[in-house]
Amino acid sequence: MDNCIFCKIANGEIPSATLYEDEEFRVILDLGPASKGHALILPKVHAADIYELPEETAGKAMILAKHMAEKMKDALHCDGFNIVQNNGEIAGQTVFHFHMHLIPRYKGDQVGLTWTPGKLSDKDRDEILEKLGR
Ligand code: AMP
Ligand code: ZN
Repeated sequence: MDNCIFCKIANGEIPSATLYEDEEFRVILDLGPASKGHALILPKVHAADIYELPEETAGKAMILAKHMAEKMKDALHCDGFNIVQNNGEIAGQTVFHFHMHLIPRYKGDQVGLTWTPGKLSDKDRDEILEKLGR
């Protein structure tokens, strides 16, 4: 993808604060962090979102997220950890190259990743189960 900024960062054409790199991924610090240490896992091969992401890359990305979470927890002494991944504009995606957010959480931080819980109605439950072939 010629015009994708995360392709350029992942492949080293644009410099970044890199926490980890291997043949398939680069992990960088987010330039607009939600918290201290907010990082992004970027696959080097372009996929716009989770729907386009090859299964094998998806599996490796999750394993890498686990390793990074362990490493960052030890290094940054955070109190919790969110792993967030947005798909589509309505879901908050602004860069259309698949990425996973690694967000260290600290007691008293102001990171807003919560929602107001609704109530699962019988109608919605039945409809959704049917639509998913259950
Ligand atoms: P999303 O909204 O899930 O698509 O996340 C995009 C993230 O990329 C945001 O958290 C931005 O702060 C971050 N971001 C955008 N451009 C850059 C960049 N050049 N280097 C590092 N992080 C970036
Ligand atoms: Zn890309």
